[in-house]
Amino acid sequence: MGSVVISLDAELGWGFHDLVTPPAERVEAGRRGWSVMLELLEEFEVPATWAVVGHLMLDSCDGIHDDHPAPEGWFARERGEWADREDLRYGPDLVADVLAADADHEFASHTFSHVLFGRPETDRELAVAELERSREIAADWNLSIDTLVYPRNDVGHRDVLAEQGITAYRGRSPTRDGVRGLFDSTVRDRSMLVEPVVDEYGLVNVPASLFLFGFEGAARTVAESIWADPMVELARRGIDEAARTDGLFHMWLHPNNLTDERDDRRMRAILSYLDRQRAATDLRVETMADVADRVAPESGFSERATASWQ
Ligand SMILES: [Zn+2]
Ligand SMILES: [Zn+2]
Repeated sequence: MGSVVISLDAELGWGFHDLVTPPAERVEAGRRGWSVMLELLEEFEVPATWAVVGHLMLDSCDGIHDDHPAPEGWFARERGEWADREDLRYGPDLVADVLAADADHEFASHTFSHVLFGRPETDRELAVAELERSREIAADWNLSIDTLVYPRNDVGHRDVLAEQGITAYRGRSPTRDGVRGLFDSTVRDRSMLVEPVVDEYGLVNVPASLFLFGFEGAARTVAESIWADPMVELARRGIDEAARTDGLFHMWLHPNNLTDERDDRRMRAILSYLDRQRAATDLRVETMADVADRVAPESGFSERATASWQ
């Protein structure tokens, strides 16, 4: 039985706060994209893994985070340029929408403040603090964290994840994303399926297959005038491959990638195709936690939780 996973990096302003010039269109699309994705997933009854930046679950903060061992200036934009942009810094309403959805979404973490774990300047203390703070906030919401999606897929400090009770993370795609992947025939003919594996820390790496918005800008416009949306074609190919085999096809995106109606159309086309193939074949849709439980049941959250209740 093949399966499909969709993971979302849910971050609002936090995905861009460290950039000198944040891309305004994406920054402003965070809330709209979040709601559109949630509605589409609901319409097609597709559960997804929502990896949420922990800070979004706060109602307020002091903008300083003095007790957080982040580098000097890390929170500068939140207390400066975005001081009056609470809509970019907090999103408890949006997180509550995910939890209230009928689709059985997985709540996952995208760290506390979108720190890049693979960077040499991110020391162990900061990695620990990012995860501890995320877990504390999650606990305030009666949630726990099984899965981490690394900001910008920058994998690092996996030993800290294991210590913090995290079970799974999203590893990098084995194929190149985006325009090269689409036009390079050696990549085009390669399988879109990925193999979840247990790494040396006992974590389940659920690698990405395809970033659904890795093909944008002028090239997208040209390609769309020649074909339909080529990204939809790629996603369909991955879904078909998973349906034909017992492999895993893992798509991912940020809600803020849905900046425009044509982005909504892309996601609708992909989800409706997934829904149809699921009905017509043995294909199933899983969350990253489902995959982790299947691949390494002994490290699964469900068993740990059950044990602690007994
Ligand atoms: Zn803050
Ligand atoms: Zn991110």
